[in-house]
Amino acid sequence: MTENKGTLEVGWSFDTRYTDLPSMMFSNVEPEPVEAPKLVILNDSLAQSLGLDPVALQHQNSIAVLAGNEVPKGAAPLAQAYAGHQFGHFTMLGDGRAILLGEQITPNGERFDIQLKGSGRTPYSRQGDGRAALGPMLREYIISEAMHALGIPTTRSLAVVTTGESVFRETVLPGAILTRVAASHIRVGTFQFAANAGSEEELKALADYTLARHFPEVEADCENRYLALLQEVIKRQAELIAKWQLVGFIHGVMNTDNMTISGETIDYGPCAFMDVYDPETVFSSIDTRGRYAYGNQPRIGAWNLARFAEALLPLLADDQDEAIKLAEAEISNYAEQFEHHWLNGMRAKLGLFNEESEDLSLIKDLLEVMHKHKADFTNTFRALTFDEQEETGLHDKLEFTEWHERWQARLGRQEQTKDDSHNLMKMSNPAVIPRNHRVEEALEAAVEQGDYQVMERLLKVLTNPFAHSPEQKAYAKLPAPCANPYRTYCGT
Ligand code: AMP
Ligand code: MG
Repeated sequence: MTENKGTLEVGWSFDTRYTDLPSMMFSNVEPEPVEAPKLVILNDSLAQSLGLDPVALQHQNSIAVLAGNEVPKGAAPLAQAYAGHQFGHFTMLGDGRAILLGEQITPNGERFDIQLKGSGRTPYSRQGDGRAALGPMLREYIISEAMHALGIPTTRSLAVVTTGESVFRETVLPGAILTRVAASHIRVGTFQFAANAGSEEELKALADYTLARHFPEVEADCENRYLALLQEVIKRQAELIAKWQLVGFIHGVMNTDNMTISGETIDYGPCAFMDVYDPETVFSSIDTRGRYAYGNQPRIGAWNLARFAEALLPLLADDQDEAIKLAEAEISNYAEQFEHHWLNGMRAKLGLFNEESEDLSLIKDLLEVMHKHKADFTNTFRALTFDEQEETGLHDKLEFTEWHERWQARLGRQEQTKDDSHNLMKMSNPAVIPRNHRVEEALEAAVEQGDYQVMERLLKVLTNPFAHSPEQKAYAKLPAPCANPYRTYCGT
Protein backbone atom coordinates (compact mmCIF):
# COMPACT_ATOMS: atom_id res chain seq x y z
CA MET A 1 0.00 0.00 0.00
CA THR A 2 1.35 3.42 -0.94
CA GLU A 3 1.45 5.77 1.99
CA ASN A 4 0.31 9.26 1.20
CA LYS A 5 2.57 12.04 2.45
CA GLY A 6 -0.35 14.46 2.79
CA THR A 7 -2.37 12.12 4.99
CA LEU A 8 -1.76 13.76 8.32
CA GLU A 9 -2.49 17.31 7.24
CA VAL A 10 -5.67 16.33 5.43
CA GLY A 11 -7.11 14.61 8.47
CA TRP A 12 -7.98 11.18 7.12
CA SER A 13 -8.71 8.94 10.06
CA PHE A 14 -9.77 5.60 8.68
CA ASP A 15 -11.22 2.61 10.38
CA THR A 16 -12.08 -0.46 8.34
CA ARG A 17 -14.78 -2.35 10.22
CA TYR A 18 -16.45 -3.59 7.05
CA THR A 19 -13.56 -6.01 6.64
CA ASP A 20 -14.68 -7.73 9.87
CA LEU A 21 -17.58 -9.19 7.89
CA PRO A 22 -17.35 -12.66 6.30
CA SER A 23 -15.04 -12.51 3.30
CA MET A 24 -17.86 -13.32 0.84
CA MET A 25 -19.33 -9.88 1.55
CA PHE A 26 -16.58 -7.97 -0.27
CA SER A 27 -13.48 -8.18 -2.45
CA ASN A 28 -10.25 -6.42 -1.63
CA VAL A 29 -9.47 -4.36 -4.67
CA GLU A 30 -7.53 -1.16 -5.22
CA PRO A 31 -8.77 1.66 -7.41
CA GLU A 32 -7.27 1.74 -10.90
CA PRO A 33 -5.00 4.77 -11.35
CA VAL A 34 -6.06 7.47 -13.79
CA GLU A 35 -4.00 9.57 -16.12
CA ALA A 36 -4.36 13.21 -15.12
CA PRO A 37 -6.53 13.87 -12.08
CA LYS A 38 -7.89 17.36 -11.59
CA LEU A 39 -10.12 18.52 -8.77
CA VAL A 40 -13.13 20.34 -10.20
CA ILE A 41 -15.35 20.69 -7.16
CA LEU A 42 -14.83 20.27 -3.45
CA ASN A 43 -17.37 20.45 -0.64
CA ASP A 44 -15.57 22.56 1.96
CA SER A 45 -18.22 22.41 4.65
CA LEU A 46 -18.67 18.65 4.33
CA ALA A 47 -14.89 18.24 4.44
CA GLN A 48 -14.75 20.21 7.65
CA SER A 49 -17.53 18.25 9.28
CA LEU A 50 -15.59 15.06 8.46
CA GLY A 51 -12.47 16.46 10.11
CA LEU A 52 -10.72 17.07 6.78
CA ASP A 53 -8.84 20.22 5.89
CA PRO A 54 -10.34 21.68 2.68
CA VAL A 55 -7.08 23.48 1.83
CA ALA A 56 -4.94 20.38 2.25
CA LEU A 57 -7.49 18.43 0.21
CA GLN A 58 -6.60 20.59 -2.79
CA HIS A 59 -2.93 19.55 -2.74
CA GLN A 60 -1.87 17.32 -5.58
CA ASN A 61 -1.20 14.35 -3.31
CA SER A 62 -4.69 14.65 -1.80
CA ILE A 63 -6.22 14.85 -5.24
CA ALA A 64 -4.34 11.66 -6.04
CA VAL A 65 -6.32 10.02 -3.23
CA LEU A 66 -9.64 11.34 -4.56
CA ALA A 67 -8.68 9.98 -7.98
CA GLY A 68 -7.71 6.56 -6.66
CA ASN A 69 -4.07 7.01 -7.66
CA GLU A 70 -2.91 6.74 -4.08
CA VAL A 71 -4.39 4.95 -1.13
CA PRO A 72 -4.34 6.95 2.09
CA LYS A 73 -2.87 5.49 5.26
CA GLY A 74 -5.32 3.37 7.20
CA ALA A 75 -7.63 2.72 4.24
CA ALA A 76 -8.43 -0.83 3.13
CA PRO A 77 -9.97 -0.50 -0.33
CA LEU A 78 -12.73 -2.95 -1.17
CA ALA A 79 -15.72 -3.46 -3.40
CA GLN A 80 -18.90 -4.55 -1.66
CA ALA A 81 -20.91 -7.54 -2.75
CA TYR A 82 -24.66 -7.12 -3.06
CA ALA A 83 -27.63 -8.31 -5.03
CA GLY A 84 -30.81 -6.57 -5.98
CA HIS A 85 -34.21 -6.66 -7.57
CA GLN A 86 -33.83 -4.43 -10.61
CA PHE A 87 -37.25 -3.48 -11.96
CA GLY A 88 -38.56 -6.53 -10.14
CA HIS A 89 -35.94 -9.02 -11.36
CA PHE A 90 -33.40 -10.51 -9.00
CA THR A 91 -29.71 -10.16 -9.98
CA MET A 92 -26.33 -10.57 -8.34
CA LEU A 93 -24.56 -7.20 -8.50
CA GLY A 94 -21.91 -5.61 -6.29
CA ASP A 95 -19.84 -2.45 -6.61
CA GLY A 96 -18.97 -2.59 -10.28
CA ARG A 97 -17.47 0.87 -10.38
CA ALA A 98 -17.07 1.96 -6.79
CA ILE A 99 -14.50 1.31 -4.10
CA LEU A 100 -14.89 1.82 -0.40
CA LEU A 101 -11.67 3.29 0.97
CA GLY A 102 -12.78 2.84 4.55
CA GLU A 103 -14.75 4.54 7.27
CA GLN A 104 -13.71 8.04 8.23
CA ILE A 105 -14.02 8.69 11.95
CA THR A 106 -14.95 12.33 12.45
CA PRO A 107 -13.67 14.53 15.27
CA ASN A 108 -16.91 13.89 17.15
CA GLY A 109 -16.66 10.17 16.73
CA GLU A 110 -19.10 9.61 13.89
CA ARG A 111 -18.36 7.02 11.22
CA PHE A 112 -18.84 7.64 7.49
CA ASP A 113 -18.06 5.51 4.47
CA ILE A 114 -15.72 7.18 2.01
CA GLN A 115 -16.33 5.72 -1.41
CA LEU A 116 -14.84 6.49 -4.79
CA LYS A 117 -17.39 6.11 -7.58
CA GLY A 118 -16.01 5.58 -11.08
CA SER A 119 -12.69 4.26 -9.77
CA GLY A 120 -12.20 1.34 -12.13
CA ARG A 121 -13.13 -2.27 -12.58
CA THR A 122 -13.85 -4.66 -9.73
CA PRO A 123 -14.76 -8.36 -9.63
CA TYR A 124 -18.41 -7.20 -9.85
CA SER A 125 -18.05 -5.05 -12.98
CA ARG A 126 -19.65 -7.59 -15.34
CA GLN A 127 -19.53 -5.96 -18.81
CA GLY A 128 -18.98 -2.45 -17.41
CA ASP A 129 -15.79 -0.41 -17.64
CA GLY A 130 -15.81 0.58 -13.98
CA ARG A 131 -15.78 4.23 -14.93
CA ALA A 132 -18.12 7.21 -14.72
CA ALA A 133 -18.67 10.27 -16.88
CA LEU A 134 -18.29 13.80 -15.57
CA GLY A 135 -21.88 14.96 -16.21
CA PRO A 136 -23.59 12.29 -14.11
CA MET A 137 -21.06 12.66 -11.26
CA LEU A 138 -21.66 16.42 -11.12
CA ARG A 139 -25.38 15.76 -11.29
CA GLU A 140 -25.13 13.47 -8.26
CA TYR A 141 -23.12 16.16 -6.48
CA ILE A 142 -25.72 18.86 -7.13
CA ILE A 143 -28.81 16.84 -6.33
CA SER A 144 -27.45 15.03 -3.28
CA GLU A 145 -26.31 18.32 -1.78
CA ALA A 146 -29.69 19.90 -2.58
CA MET A 147 -31.42 16.99 -0.86
CA HIS A 148 -29.24 17.40 2.21
CA ALA A 149 -30.11 21.08 2.35
CA LEU A 150 -33.80 20.21 2.08
CA GLY A 151 -33.37 18.17 5.26
CA ILE A 152 -33.69 14.82 3.53
CA PRO A 153 -31.34 12.03 4.64
CA THR A 154 -28.91 11.32 1.83
CA THR A 155 -25.45 10.22 0.89
CA ARG A 156 -23.27 13.30 0.36
CA SER A 157 -20.73 14.40 -2.18
CA LEU A 158 -17.29 15.44 -1.04
CA ALA A 159 -15.55 16.04 -4.36
CA VAL A 160 -15.44 15.38 -8.06
CA VAL A 161 -12.16 14.93 -9.92
CA THR A 162 -11.81 14.57 -13.64
CA THR A 163 -9.54 11.74 -14.71
CA GLY A 164 -8.02 13.10 -17.90
CA GLU A 165 -9.36 9.97 -19.57
CA SER A 166 -12.35 9.44 -21.82
CA VAL A 167 -15.23 7.12 -21.17
CA PHE A 168 -17.10 5.60 -24.03
CA ARG A 169 -20.88 5.61 -23.88
CA GLU A 170 -23.11 6.56 -26.81
CA THR A 171 -20.53 9.30 -27.28
CA VAL A 172 -17.05 9.95 -25.93
CA LEU A 173 -17.30 11.72 -22.58
CA PRO A 174 -14.82 13.08 -20.05
CA GLY A 175 -14.27 10.65 -17.18
CA ALA A 176 -14.65 11.59 -13.52
CA ILE A 177 -14.68 10.15 -10.02
CA LEU A 178 -17.06 11.21 -7.28
CA THR A 179 -16.14 10.86 -3.63
CA ARG A 180 -19.34 9.75 -1.96
CA VAL A 181 -19.88 9.96 1.78
CA ALA A 182 -22.50 7.77 3.42
CA ALA A 183 -23.60 6.59 6.86
CA SER A 184 -22.90 3.25 5.19
CA HIS A 185 -23.45 1.60 1.85
CA ILE A 186 -25.35 -1.35 3.31
CA ARG A 187 -28.47 -1.86 1.23
CA VAL A 188 -31.49 -4.10 1.14
CA GLY A 189 -29.53 -5.81 -1.65
CA THR A 190 -26.62 -6.47 0.71
CA PHE A 191 -28.96 -8.61 2.82
CA GLN A 192 -30.39 -10.26 -0.28
CA PHE A 193 -26.86 -11.20 -1.29
CA ALA A 194 -26.06 -12.67 2.13
CA ALA A 195 -29.38 -14.54 2.24
CA ASN A 196 -28.87 -15.99 -1.24
CA ALA A 197 -25.17 -16.73 -1.38
CA GLY A 198 -24.30 -17.17 2.27
CA SER A 199 -25.04 -19.37 5.24
CA GLU A 200 -27.33 -18.35 8.09
CA GLU A 201 -24.20 -17.62 10.06
CA GLU A 202 -23.01 -15.14 7.45
CA LEU A 203 -26.42 -13.47 7.24
CA LYS A 204 -26.39 -13.16 11.00
CA ALA A 205 -22.93 -11.58 10.95
CA LEU A 206 -24.22 -8.93 8.52
CA ALA A 207 -27.31 -8.29 10.64
CA ASP A 208 -25.25 -7.96 13.81
CA TYR A 209 -22.80 -5.64 12.08
CA THR A 210 -25.67 -3.49 10.79
CA LEU A 211 -27.37 -3.34 14.17
CA ALA A 212 -24.13 -2.27 15.85
CA ARG A 213 -23.43 0.33 13.21
CA HIS A 214 -26.84 1.90 12.68
CA PHE A 215 -29.05 0.87 15.56
CA PRO A 216 -26.81 0.59 18.62
CA GLU A 217 -29.85 1.37 20.77
CA VAL A 218 -31.21 -2.12 20.04
CA GLU A 219 -29.86 -4.02 23.02
CA ALA A 220 -27.94 -7.25 22.61
CA ASP A 221 -30.44 -9.04 24.82
CA CYS A 222 -33.46 -7.55 23.04
CA GLU A 223 -36.08 -10.29 22.63
CA ASN A 224 -35.88 -10.38 18.84
CA ARG A 225 -33.00 -8.21 17.62
CA TYR A 226 -33.57 -9.04 13.99
CA LEU A 227 -37.22 -8.13 14.13
CA ALA A 228 -36.11 -4.87 15.71
CA LEU A 229 -33.77 -4.37 12.74
CA LEU A 230 -36.67 -4.83 10.34
CA GLN A 231 -38.80 -2.40 12.37
CA GLU A 232 -36.09 0.24 12.39
CA VAL A 233 -35.47 0.06 8.66
CA ILE A 234 -39.21 0.25 7.95
CA LYS A 235 -39.40 3.30 10.21
CA ARG A 236 -36.56 5.09 8.43
CA GLN A 237 -37.75 4.29 4.94
CA ALA A 238 -41.33 5.34 5.68
CA GLU A 239 -40.00 8.68 6.89
CA LEU A 240 -37.58 9.03 3.98
CA ILE A 241 -40.03 8.30 1.21
CA ALA A 242 -42.60 10.65 2.78
CA LYS A 243 -39.95 13.37 2.61
CA TRP A 244 -39.35 12.65 -1.07
CA GLN A 245 -43.06 12.98 -1.78
CA LEU A 246 -43.26 16.27 0.09
CA VAL A 247 -40.71 17.94 -2.19
CA GLY A 248 -41.62 16.17 -5.42
CA PHE A 249 -38.43 14.13 -5.62
CA ILE A 250 -38.55 11.20 -8.01
CA HIS A 251 -35.77 8.72 -7.35
CA GLY A 252 -36.24 6.96 -10.64
CA VAL A 253 -34.52 3.67 -9.91
CA MET A 254 -35.82 2.29 -6.63
CA ASN A 255 -34.25 -1.12 -7.12
CA THR A 256 -33.54 -2.95 -3.87
CA ASP A 257 -29.81 -2.39 -4.35
CA ASN A 258 -30.56 1.33 -4.23
CA MET A 259 -32.39 1.27 -0.89
CA THR A 260 -30.15 1.83 2.11
CA ILE A 261 -30.54 0.35 5.55
CA SER A 262 -29.45 3.65 7.10
CA GLY A 263 -32.46 5.43 5.60
CA GLU A 264 -30.34 7.67 3.37
CA THR A 265 -31.26 8.39 -0.23
CA ILE A 266 -28.70 6.74 -2.49
CA ASP A 267 -28.00 6.51 -6.21
CA TYR A 268 -28.66 9.70 -8.07
CA GLY A 269 -28.69 8.19 -11.55
CA PRO A 270 -31.99 9.04 -13.21
CA CYS A 271 -33.62 11.03 -10.40
CA ALA A 272 -35.26 14.42 -10.95
CA PHE A 273 -37.71 16.77 -9.29
CA MET A 274 -41.26 17.04 -10.53
CA ASP A 275 -42.41 20.38 -11.91
CA VAL A 276 -46.12 20.07 -12.70
CA TYR A 277 -47.94 18.01 -10.10
CA ASP A 278 -48.77 14.69 -11.67
CA PRO A 279 -48.51 11.39 -9.76
CA GLU A 280 -47.64 9.61 -12.99
CA THR A 281 -44.50 11.64 -13.58
CA VAL A 282 -41.53 9.55 -14.72
CA PHE A 283 -38.26 10.97 -16.00
CA SER A 284 -36.09 7.90 -16.42
CA SER A 285 -35.68 6.79 -20.00
CA ILE A 286 -35.56 3.14 -18.98
CA ASP A 287 -38.64 3.22 -16.74
CA THR A 288 -40.97 2.69 -19.67
CA ARG A 289 -43.80 1.27 -17.58
CA GLY A 290 -43.66 3.89 -14.86
CA ARG A 291 -42.82 1.38 -12.13
CA TYR A 292 -40.95 4.13 -10.29
CA ALA A 293 -43.33 7.01 -11.05
CA TYR A 294 -43.78 9.68 -8.37
CA GLY A 295 -47.10 8.29 -7.19
CA ASN A 296 -45.76 4.73 -7.00
CA GLN A 297 -42.79 5.46 -4.76
CA PRO A 298 -44.55 4.75 -1.46
CA ARG A 299 -45.83 1.38 -2.72
CA ILE A 300 -42.44 0.45 -4.13
CA GLY A 301 -40.99 1.28 -0.73
CA ALA A 302 -43.26 -1.39 0.78
CA TRP A 303 -42.34 -3.86 -1.94
CA ASN A 304 -38.62 -3.36 -1.33
CA LEU A 305 -39.08 -3.67 2.42
CA ALA A 306 -40.89 -6.96 1.86
CA ARG A 307 -37.78 -8.17 0.00
CA PHE A 308 -35.71 -7.07 2.99
CA ALA A 309 -38.01 -8.96 5.35
CA GLU A 310 -37.71 -12.04 3.12
CA ALA A 311 -33.95 -11.91 3.35
CA LEU A 312 -34.19 -11.69 7.14
CA LEU A 313 -36.67 -14.58 7.53
CA PRO A 314 -34.14 -17.20 8.74
CA LEU A 315 -33.21 -14.87 11.59
CA LEU A 316 -36.72 -13.83 12.62
CA ALA A 317 -37.86 -17.19 14.01
CA ASP A 318 -36.85 -20.87 13.93
CA ASP A 319 -40.18 -21.79 12.46
CA GLN A 320 -40.61 -20.39 8.96
CA ASP A 321 -44.37 -19.84 9.21
CA GLU A 322 -43.85 -17.95 12.42
CA ALA A 323 -41.11 -15.84 10.74
CA ILE A 324 -43.39 -15.00 7.83
CA LYS A 325 -46.18 -14.00 10.20
CA LEU A 326 -43.86 -11.68 12.09
CA ALA A 327 -42.49 -10.15 8.90
CA GLU A 328 -45.93 -9.59 7.38
CA ALA A 329 -47.16 -7.85 10.50
CA GLU A 330 -44.25 -5.41 10.32
CA ILE A 331 -44.58 -4.73 6.61
CA SER A 332 -48.25 -3.95 7.06
CA ASN A 333 -47.26 -1.20 9.53
CA TYR A 334 -45.26 0.61 6.89
CA ALA A 335 -48.23 2.15 5.06
CA GLU A 336 -49.55 3.68 8.26
CA GLN A 337 -46.15 5.08 9.18
CA PHE A 338 -45.68 6.53 5.72
CA GLU A 339 -49.15 8.10 5.82
CA HIS A 340 -48.43 9.61 9.23
CA HIS A 341 -45.23 11.30 8.06
CA TRP A 342 -46.72 12.40 4.78
CA LEU A 343 -49.88 13.81 6.36
CA ASN A 344 -47.96 15.71 9.02
CA GLY A 345 -45.56 16.99 6.38
CA MET A 346 -48.44 18.18 4.23
CA ARG A 347 -50.08 19.82 7.23
CA ALA A 348 -46.85 21.77 7.79
CA LYS A 349 -46.78 22.75 4.11
CA LEU A 350 -50.25 24.24 4.64
CA GLY A 351 -49.37 25.94 7.92
CA LEU A 352 -51.40 23.56 10.07
CA PHE A 353 -50.20 22.83 13.58
CA ASN A 354 -52.98 20.66 14.95
CA GLU A 355 -54.91 17.76 13.49
CA GLU A 356 -58.44 17.61 12.22
CA SER A 357 -60.09 14.60 10.70
CA GLU A 358 -60.89 16.52 7.51
CA ASP A 359 -57.23 17.36 6.85
CA LEU A 360 -56.63 14.48 4.51
CA SER A 361 -59.47 15.50 2.23
CA LEU A 362 -58.39 19.15 2.38
CA ILE A 363 -54.93 18.11 1.17
CA LYS A 364 -56.16 15.66 -1.44
CA ASP A 365 -58.57 18.21 -2.85
CA LEU A 366 -55.78 20.73 -3.31
CA LEU A 367 -53.63 18.12 -5.05
CA GLU A 368 -56.52 17.25 -7.30
CA VAL A 369 -56.99 20.86 -8.36
CA MET A 370 -53.23 21.15 -8.95
CA HIS A 371 -53.26 18.00 -11.03
CA LYS A 372 -56.27 19.05 -13.06
CA HIS A 373 -54.86 22.47 -13.87
CA LYS A 374 -51.23 21.38 -14.21
CA ALA A 375 -49.93 23.52 -11.37
CA ASP A 376 -46.25 23.49 -10.50
CA PHE A 377 -45.77 21.51 -7.27
CA THR A 378 -43.04 23.61 -5.63
CA ASN A 379 -44.26 27.00 -6.75
CA THR A 380 -47.86 26.40 -5.73
CA PHE A 381 -46.87 25.74 -2.13
CA ARG A 382 -44.44 28.65 -2.22
CA ALA A 383 -47.20 30.93 -3.52
CA LEU A 384 -49.58 29.76 -0.79
CA THR A 385 -46.85 30.49 1.77
CA PHE A 386 -46.61 34.11 0.65
CA ASP A 387 -50.30 34.47 -0.12
CA GLU A 388 -49.53 35.21 -3.75
CA GLN A 389 -52.58 33.57 -5.21
CA GLU A 390 -51.88 34.70 -8.74
CA GLU A 391 -48.54 32.92 -8.65
CA THR A 392 -50.30 29.59 -8.22
CA GLY A 393 -51.79 29.96 -11.67
CA LEU A 394 -54.97 28.66 -10.05
CA HIS A 395 -56.47 31.89 -8.75
CA ASP A 396 -59.09 32.11 -11.50
CA LYS A 397 -60.28 28.55 -11.02
CA LEU A 398 -63.47 28.19 -9.03
CA GLU A 399 -62.33 24.90 -7.45
CA PHE A 400 -59.26 26.67 -6.16
CA THR A 401 -61.04 29.70 -4.71
CA GLU A 402 -63.46 27.38 -2.93
CA TRP A 403 -60.59 25.29 -1.65
CA HIS A 404 -58.78 28.44 -0.52
CA GLU A 405 -61.78 29.50 1.56
CA ARG A 406 -61.94 26.10 3.22
CA TRP A 407 -58.21 26.30 3.96
CA GLN A 408 -58.50 29.79 5.43
CA ALA A 409 -61.36 28.63 7.63
CA ARG A 410 -59.27 25.67 8.73
CA LEU A 411 -56.36 27.97 9.61
CA GLY A 412 -58.77 30.09 11.62
CA ARG A 413 -59.75 27.10 13.75
CA GLN A 414 -56.29 26.65 15.27
CA GLU A 415 -54.93 28.79 18.06
CA GLN A 416 -51.74 29.76 16.22
CA THR A 417 -51.70 33.07 14.39
CA LYS A 418 -51.42 33.68 10.65
CA ASP A 419 -47.81 34.68 11.29
CA ASP A 420 -47.09 31.37 12.97
CA SER A 421 -48.53 29.55 9.97
CA HIS A 422 -46.56 31.69 7.56
CA ASN A 423 -43.33 30.86 9.39
CA LEU A 424 -44.11 27.16 9.49
CA MET A 425 -44.86 27.22 5.76
CA LYS A 426 -41.63 29.07 5.03
CA MET A 427 -39.71 26.28 6.73
CA SER A 428 -41.72 23.57 5.00
CA ASN A 429 -41.97 24.82 1.43
CA PRO A 430 -38.66 25.33 -0.36
CA ALA A 431 -38.15 28.44 -2.45
CA VAL A 432 -36.06 26.40 -4.85
CA ILE A 433 -35.48 22.84 -5.91
CA PRO A 434 -32.87 21.69 -8.44
CA ARG A 435 -35.01 22.42 -11.49
CA ASN A 436 -34.09 20.17 -14.37
CA HIS A 437 -33.30 22.98 -16.79
CA ARG A 438 -31.08 24.69 -14.20
CA VAL A 439 -29.21 21.49 -13.48
CA GLU A 440 -28.73 20.87 -17.20
CA GLU A 441 -27.51 24.42 -17.71
CA ALA A 442 -24.93 24.00 -14.93
CA LEU A 443 -23.77 20.64 -16.27
CA GLU A 444 -23.47 21.92 -19.79
CA ALA A 445 -21.31 24.88 -18.74
CA ALA A 446 -19.08 22.58 -16.68
CA VAL A 447 -18.78 19.70 -19.10
CA GLU A 448 -18.75 21.60 -22.41
CA GLN A 449 -16.90 24.76 -21.40
CA GLY A 450 -15.09 23.84 -18.21
CA ASP A 451 -17.02 26.67 -16.53
CA TYR A 452 -17.96 25.65 -12.99
CA GLN A 453 -19.34 29.01 -11.96
CA VAL A 454 -22.86 28.25 -13.12
CA MET A 455 -22.83 25.14 -10.96
CA GLU A 456 -21.32 27.00 -7.99
CA ARG A 457 -24.04 29.65 -8.21
CA LEU A 458 -26.75 27.01 -8.44
CA LEU A 459 -25.32 25.15 -5.45
CA LYS A 460 -25.24 28.35 -3.42
CA VAL A 461 -28.94 28.91 -4.02
CA LEU A 462 -29.81 25.27 -3.40
CA THR A 463 -27.91 24.97 -0.14
CA ASN A 464 -30.34 27.29 1.62
CA PRO A 465 -33.67 26.35 0.08
CA PHE A 466 -35.80 27.85 2.84
CA ALA A 467 -34.14 31.27 2.75
CA HIS A 468 -36.74 32.69 0.33
CA SER A 469 -34.17 35.29 -0.69
CA PRO A 470 -34.53 37.64 -3.70
CA GLU A 471 -31.76 35.88 -5.66
CA GLN A 472 -33.66 32.60 -5.41
CA LYS A 473 -36.56 34.02 -7.41
CA ALA A 474 -34.83 33.52 -10.74
CA TYR A 475 -34.16 29.88 -9.86
CA ALA A 476 -37.83 29.26 -9.08
CA LYS A 477 -38.86 30.14 -12.62
CA LEU A 478 -40.13 27.40 -14.85
CA PRO A 479 -38.44 26.40 -18.08
CA ALA A 480 -39.86 27.63 -21.35
CA PRO A 481 -42.48 25.18 -22.61
CA CYS A 482 -40.81 22.35 -24.44
CA ALA A 483 -42.23 19.87 -26.88
CA ASN A 484 -40.23 16.94 -25.51
CA PRO A 485 -40.60 15.88 -21.89
CA TYR A 486 -37.46 15.92 -19.77
CA ARG A 487 -35.62 12.59 -19.80
CA THR A 488 -32.95 11.26 -17.47
CA TYR A 489 -30.45 8.49 -17.98
CA CYS A 490 -28.75 6.16 -15.53
CA GLY A 491 -25.36 7.64 -16.23
CA THR A 492 -23.59 4.33 -16.34
P1 AMP B 1 -27.08 1.40 -10.62
O1 AMP B 1 -28.09 1.33 -11.71
O2 AMP B 1 -26.25 2.64 -10.64
O3 AMP B 1 -27.66 1.13 -9.28
O4 AMP B 1 -26.03 0.24 -10.92
C1 AMP B 1 -26.36 -1.10 -10.96
C2 AMP B 1 -25.13 -1.94 -10.95
O5 AMP B 1 -24.38 -1.74 -12.14
C3 AMP B 1 -24.19 -1.71 -9.81
O6 AMP B 1 -23.72 -2.96 -9.43
C4 AMP B 1 -23.10 -0.87 -10.42
O7 AMP B 1 -21.88 -1.03 -9.74
C5 AMP B 1 -23.02 -1.46 -11.83
N1 AMP B 1 -22.48 -0.51 -12.81
C6 AMP B 1 -23.06 0.62 -13.27
N2 AMP B 1 -22.27 1.23 -14.17
C7 AMP B 1 -21.15 0.50 -14.27
C8 AMP B 1 -19.93 0.60 -15.06
N3 AMP B 1 -19.74 1.61 -15.89
N4 AMP B 1 -19.00 -0.34 -14.87
C9 AMP B 1 -19.20 -1.37 -14.05
N5 AMP B 1 -20.30 -1.53 -13.31
C10 AMP B 1 -21.27 -0.62 -13.41
MG1 MG C 1 -26.92 1.70 -7.51
